[in-house]
Amino acid sequence: MSEKPIILEELEKVSETALSILAGIQEEEVLQTWKKEYLGKSSTVMSAFSSIGQQPKEFRPLVGQMANQVKQTLEAALEERAKIVLEASLARKVAQEKIDVTLPGREPLKGGLHPQTLVLRRIYSIFAEMGFQVYRSRDVESDQYNFELLNIPAHHPARDMWDTFHIDQPGVVLRTHTSPGQIHVMREQAPNPIRVILPGMCYRYEQISARSEIQFNQVEVLAVGKNITFGDMKGTLNGFVRRLFNADVRTRLRPSYFPFTEPSAEMDVECFVCGGKGCSVCKGSGWLEIMGCGIVHPTVLRNGGYDPEVYSGFAAGMGPERISMLLHKIEDIRYFWGNDYRFLEQF
Ligand SMILES: [Zn+2]
Repeated sequence: MSEKPIILEELEKVSETALSILAGIQEEEVLQTWKKEYLGKSSTVMSAFSSIGQQPKEFRPLVGQMANQVKQTLEAALEERAKIVLEASLARKVAQEKIDVTLPGREPLKGGLHPQTLVLRRIYSIFAEMGFQVYRSRDVESDQYNFELLNIPAHHPARDMWDTFHIDQPGVVLRTHTSPGQIHVMREQAPNPIRVILPGMCYRYEQISARSEIQFNQVEVLAVGKNITFGDMKGTLNGFVRRLFNADVRTRLRPSYFPFTEPSAEMDVECFVCGGKGCSVCKGSGWLEIMGCGIVHPTVLRNGGYDPEVYSGFAAGMGPERISMLLHKIEDIRYFWGNDYRFLEQF
């Protein structure tokens, strides 16, 4: 019978030492060091396994058994201790990391109004001062309201001035201008006098470029009543333009053509970039085209429910995008609906 291998005693000792050290460990890193020392490759337990072959034959099973038992005991104890250490460290963190409510907060992103909203509001307030109300009309129109009732019958050459979005349903279009609102408001108000502006989005099937978009705002002006003259129109529009640009700006009216007004005119303002001398903005003319206008056509008045023998009126239409472009020297109309923060943040 051989002598009892020394490794058995060593295993017993190392197991005791390891367990007592483990019981005092408080930190995760120390646990890792312990694991390396008592369960790592060069630990007593692992050397015991590799020494089995060199042990006297009759003790080999015992050495193996004991090494296994010690290994399992140590592993279980480590797992148990790791849990305790983790819980303790969480509890410490919670206790230490209190929320400091006195710290300054993160500043939220400030929004702003869209440049078109700003210019529209400016237009509303100027007309409001002159007694005009805002009248909202629909974006989706019937062919009848968008064209026919405005004195633009089917096959009328003036229809070529508008490239229209049609839908599957015949006779339904996206409005190409805000003018159909004129008919809506007249039919609602007749025979009372009317003083309104009609703002909103219009849609045209056009090639998108720096100068034209498929959607854009328009603001229509309409006044209907007794004894309304071309002079009233000129005075009202001059008053508006002077409040919008500046009190001294000169204006002029040029004869023009629209199917729903007669006579019709274009209103120009003196170029405020060059003061009328001629520059790239006014293309050398010294004048900027700002809106179309005219005396409401008798047919349109009649379609709206007013007797043209008794009533008269004037109408005008302008593009707020164009006004913004002139006011802020914006060179490309596509910026307005491109949703680019770098552009929008500037207003
Ligand atoms: Zn100019």
